[in-house]
This record gives sequence, C-alpha cells and structure tokens, in this order.
Amino acid sequence: MNPPKHVVIVGGGTAGWMTANLLRHRWARLGVEVTLIESADIATIGVGEGSTPFLRHFFRTLDIAESDWMPACDATFKCGIRFPGWSSVPGYESYVHPFFNEADRELGNQFFTNACLRRRGQAADANPQDFFLAAELARQCRAPVNQVDSPGMDYAYHFDAGKLGAFLRTHAVGLGVRHIVDTVARVEQLENGDLAAVHPKSGARIAADLFVDCSGFKGLFITETLGEPFHPYRDNLFNDRALAMPTPLATADDIPSETVSTALRHGWAWRIPLTSRYGNGYVYSSDFVSDDEAERELREHLGAAAGGVEARRLRMRVGRVKQHWRQNCVAIGLSQGFIEPLEATALMLIQLSVEQFIADLEGDHFGRARQAAYNERVNAMFEGVRDYVVAHYQLNTRRDTDYWRANRANRNISDRLASLLDVWDRGGDFEAELERHGAGLMYLRPSWYCLFAGMGRFPAELRAAPHAITAAQARRRLHEMARAFRAHRSYLTVVS
Ligand SMILES: Cc1cc2nc3c(=O)[nH]c(=O)nc-3n(C[C@H](O)[C@H](O)[C@H](O)COP(=O)(O)OP(=O)(O)OC[C@H]3O[C@@H](n4cnc5c(N)ncnc54)[C@H](O)[C@@H]3O)c2cc1C
Repeated sequence: MNPPKHVVIVGGGTAGWMTANLLRHRWARLGVEVTLIESADIATIGVGEGSTPFLRHFFRTLDIAESDWMPACDATFKCGIRFPGWSSVPGYESYVHPFFNEADRELGNQFFTNACLRRRGQAADANPQDFFLAAELARQCRAPVNQVDSPGMDYAYHFDAGKLGAFLRTHAVGLGVRHIVDTVARVEQLENGDLAAVHPKSGARIAADLFVDCSGFKGLFITETLGEPFHPYRDNLFNDRALAMPTPLATADDIPSETVSTALRHGWAWRIPLTSRYGNGYVYSSDFVSDDEAERELREHLGAAAGGVEARRLRMRVGRVKQHWRQNCVAIGLSQGFIEPLEATALMLIQLSVEQFIADLEGDHFGRARQAAYNERVNAMFEGVRDYVVAHYQLNTRRDTDYWRANRANRNISDRLASLLDVWDRGGDFEAELERHGAGLMYLRPSWYCLFAGMGRFPAELRAAPHAITAAQARRRLHEMARAFRAHRSYLTVVS
C-alpha cells in the first residue's frame, strides 16, 4: 500500500489542529497533503485548559519552544492538581496529585513506606502533599524550573484553549496544511462503506483517501455517517454537565502553579490559573442538581470575582465509540470519546491516539491490518483513564449529599478497580496488584498511592509506628529543596 495522497480533517478545535500538525509533520516528506475544514457557524467547545506532562512531548515533537507558544497562549506551568474537599478524614481534607521527578526519590519512597504502614493500621503520616516536591513548589507559587538546571523535573501546562487552537492553526498552515473555513453539509460514501468526499456548503467537492473526524461530540463521520455505536460511561461516571466562568487574575498576585479541583455539593469545581485570568468551572450531574442550582453553587464558591461574569453551560457526552478507526476514517478528540476532565486527560488521549494511529498505519505499510489492534489499544487507554477517575468518586468520604453517597456506593466499577480497592483495604500486596494490571492502568504506581492515601483510605484504629518520618520533617526538607526553584510569575516573564 502507498501512503494516503490526501487527508481531510473536519474540525478546527484543539483535536483538529493537534492532528493536522502531527500528520503533516510526519508525512510531508511522503508527499501527503492535509486539508482541515472547520465551520464558522459551529463553535469549538472552548474549554480544555489543563494538560498532563504528555503535552511537553507534543511540542518537542513539533520542535516548538516554550518561549514560542506559552506567551501566545497565556500559558502557565502546572506542578499537579490539588483536591480539596473530597475527603472528610482528619488530616486528609485536601491532597495533591503531583507530577513526579528525580528529586522525589527519597521522600517519595518514605511516603510509600508510610502509606503501607498506615494501611496496615500503624499511625504514620501519609498525605502526599507533605512528601512531594511538586506539591511544595505549588504551595510556594514556584515554577517547576530550578535556578540552575532542572534534571528530571516533570510538569504540565495551563493555557487558553482558544489561543492554543489559534497558535496550532498558524503553525499547521506554516507546515503546509490547507485550511478551509466552511461547513460540511454532506459526506459522500463509496459502496464498500469508505468515505469518498465531503461537500461543504459552498458547493465544492473535496475528495480524499483518509478522513479524520475532529468534529466534536456529534461525530460527523464516525457517528452520523458511519453509525459507529457509542459505549457510554454513564454507569461509572455520573457527571454530564459543566459550567465555565472565567474570572480576573490580579496583576499583583502570585500565579499559582497548580490546578485546584474542589469538591462541591454535586460535583467539583476547577480553577486554572493563566497569565491573563483564571479559568473556572463546575462539573456536575444533571441527575442530582439543576443547571440553575449548579450555577448558584458555583457563583457562591467563586465569590465576588464572579460578579457580572456570564456562565457558559455545556453538555458532556461521556464514554467512547466502540471503534475509533473504521473504514478509511479515524475519530480523534471529542468525536471519539470523552472522560470528564478531572485529571485533564483529553489532550493526552488525542495525542496518544494520533501517535498510535501513525505507528499502526506505518507499521502495516499504510494498510488496515492493524485496525482491530488499534481500536483495542485506544479502548484500553480510555478504560485505564476512566478507572483512575472513577476511583476518586469511589474513595470520597463526603456525607453531605446523595450525589456523593451514590458515587461511593456505586458498584458499577471495573473488576480491575474493585480488585485494587480490595487489596488496598485488606492490607495486601498493593505493589503486586498494580504490577498484575501493568500498562493497562495508564497511571503509574505513585499516582495510585497518592490517590488512595491522599483520600485517607485507612483503617480508623491505629497503633504507633515508631520509625516513620513525620509530615513536619518531610515538609521542612521540601521547603529547603524548593528554594532552588524560580518564582512562577517572574519566570513566566523570562519564558516570554
Ligand atoms: C467542561 C470541559 C472541561 C475540559 N477540560 C479539559 C482539560 O482541562 N484538559 C483537557 O485536555 N481537555 C479538557 N476538555 C476536553 C477538551 O476541551 C477537548 O478534548 C478538546 O478541546 C478537543 O475538542 P475537539 O477539537 O474534539 O472538539 P471541538 O472543540 O468541539 O471542535 C469541533 C470542531 O468541529 C467543527 N465542525 C463540527 N461540525 C462541522 C461541520 N459540519 N463542518 C465543518 N466543521 C465542523 C467545529 O466548527 C469545530 O471547529 C474539557 C472538556 C469539557 C467539556
């Protein structure tokens, strides 16, 4: 088989432009033409402002420096996510899921030891926010960048979604991607089911041999044209609505270097710091609260800063299609699926899906022999992320609303997650259990420890553990280590 001559991508959201950049970057040398069509009448989702560390690899692949894209997108550094209010266990009312690095080796190991002691009923401090450097950097509003150098530091970003899309568009067009602003009105299919061409409203016919669906939740190619069934995660994840409300950032204030995801009565609220403003929002379930009540709750949470700010109301289709690559079409982004944004994983799944697609297509000399394996792999990635997100809800210890009680009581969880919870609670070999599930978990050992321990999932009765390092001792060490790192706001001016 030969490489495709022409790829048509429909959709100019973050998924469309990330895909256009990656495909053109990889295949320009093979003479593959890439066209992206986006509608001026159908808005992009306009949210999606936090990343995982994978986004660093995305920019490295494209050879784009932080100093090029970060100032253009009002971007800031992200050391991790803080979760206040998810647990009511004393000492665990707030915890952090940090990004990990070399400097964590010693205190991180002590955290694992303490968590295991505590799991087996011994009194040891085991809140991750006391043991990981990224948590301390965030506490001090520092960038994850050492004054001298930063070997092994891992971090992610916050950014303005609209500006990131615009930046990626300019870059893609620079790489030779053809950009058409028009609305696709009809999709033409061949007898064998393959897509043949799209017909935009302007009347043109645009033919291609490979099609990428980046059209958002509706899935113009994958769902509306090919009729691919959708596999909802509604039984596992109840949230189906979101509100977005930006608020001002005072120019004199420090800029936090973490996302804060605060549990409210019927879901959770995000706060994402940019250089120009805060992105805020509330993710909740329409089974438990009305949109109006959710908006009142979010306004109350944000306080005076939300005065006069309009709330955008969003619906979320949570789950995934069964096959992401079908016929000569691959779905990327919201069209392929979405897991609520608690761990800010959507852009990571976009990136991993495109990279895997390129690898599988090239690996079979541009044939379709690996289609089934690709679909299995991408489904496994989605299920891996889903289980980690579901675990937050399983582990919550709030008692204030039916929403939190129902989440905790929900038995519609995967066997894998049920088994992880069981081994943890029994004081069994958690390491072996994590290893048993291997790469399918998506999240590595430290993330699982931080989540289970951070929620305070421990026996209530405790015996003394004489040799455990205390939180106060660990915090003193972190405080010293953090002094070598740059203040976040002032370092952002260096990057620009
Ligand atoms: C509340 C919320 C919070 C989120 N937070 C995060 C986060 O923190 N981190 C993260 O990684 N992700 C997050 N996401 C997900 C993230 O926003 C999306 O994954 C990302 O923006 C990609 O969206 P998309 O490009 O697939 O779709 P969209 O942004 O919806 O873009 C769809 C595109 O398709 C075009 N289109 C549709 N129909 C046609 C047609 N007929 N003809 C031509 N063009 C058409 C539209 O014009 C548009 O350009 C969040 C999502 C939600 C809902």
